Amino acid sequence: MEYELGRILLDGRTISARVAEMAAEVSEAYSGKEFVAVGVLKGAIFFLSDLVRFFPRNSLVRLDFMAVSSYGASTKSSGIVKIVKDLDTDIRGRDVLLVEDILDTGLTLSYLLDLLKGRSPRSLKTCVLLDKPDRRKVDVRVDFRGFQIPDEFVVGYGLDYSGYWRNLPDIHVVNPIEAPARNIQPKE
Ligand code: 5GP
Repeated sequence: MEYELGRILLDGRTISARVAEMAAEVSEAYSGKEFVAVGVLKGAIFFLSDLVRFFPRNSLVRLDFMAVSSYGASTKSSGIVKIVKDLDTDIRGRDVLLVEDILDTGLTLSYLLDLLKGRSPRSLKTCVLLDKPDRRKVDVRVDFRGFQIPDEFVVGYGLDYSGYWRNLPDIHVVNPIEAPARNIQPKE
């Protein structure tokens, strides 16, 4: 199946305004505390970098990243999560905020939460920009949520289809392109 870029679901200004609100909520929750914001690559790259720049100057945030395998060229979750890059930080006894681009089935976030919990952080919270609740397969606790969106495949602002369209400033839906029908003759 091929896809083309569809309508804008969330434009850059709307995203930025909500990210600023989320930054206020997050920095309030960690006020005066050092914490590690862990971005899940590559999708969360723009979200995390925008979020932390809205934090107050005295914020004690550190940044780290994990990379997990994605859907590849498909738009459906395989449920298989492979760690491609692990944290550089030892999170034992630290306050950790896991930052994800999108929560779909919940399999990725739930896997990562179990993995990180096993490393004995002092606290572990989650922050997701987009949430597609209709597709949830496992229960995952979300502490900070940007937008609830319908069950549509989206790209832009870090989210890709087959590696493309991450760079777009707005979040778009993608539309399947129907293959041209063959051997169909017009009716007489
Ligand atoms: P989950 O494990 O919750 O099903 O999916 C989480 C991951 O699937 C996200 O980090 C993202 O990589 C990918 N994903 C889920 N829905 C979408 C979507 O609508 N667009 C894009 N580009 N990726 C998605």
